[in-house]
Amino acid sequence: MSSIKLDIVTAEGVVFAEEVDILVAPGIEGQLGILPHHAPLMTTLEVGELRVRKGGEEFFIVISGGFLEVRPDRVIVLADAAERSEEIDIARAEEAKRRAQEQLSHHPPAVDAARVEAALRRSLARLKVAEKRRKRKLGT
Ligand code: ATP
Repeated sequence: MSSIKLDIVTAEGVVFAEEVDILVAPGIEGQLGILPHHAPLMTTLEVGELRVRKGGEEFFIVISGGFLEVRPDRVIVLADAAERSEEIDIARAEEAKRRAQEQLSHHPPAVDAARVEAALRRSLARLKVAEKRRKRKLGT
């Protein structure tokens, strides 16, 4: 079976760089599935989960928005932030969620609501992916 090289990169470094069978990315217009030999493409990514399958394994990576480019020989994701599911600090994401919800509960909003809503979306995406990993480990 053919595979495609996937590089997920942030300003801080390389988060993921492996040959994969398929990836499903959080495109701004919905889930974007990419198999080997996909036509060249450049698109924007939303905050969300990027799923990767490689052999019998599945990986989950949280992307905090960015760009995805499909080239003939590889897929490149330039993300604002990205964490593999095992790297997610759940307590930190819970705290970020609590902080954002608290700020959004003020009337009138004390701070820039769009920025706080984006922080809330990031924390929820991190918690969702961390929870999925926990369930997989428990086999439920
Ligand atoms: P916080 O308010 O907790 O800093 P944030 O959403 O503002 O969260 P980002 O600006 O998206 O954080 O990311 C800053 C850096 O911290 C990035 O390198 C990102 O990967 C990392 N990061 C943020 N939250 C977590 C988390 N819960 N677990 C692991 N890494 C995280």
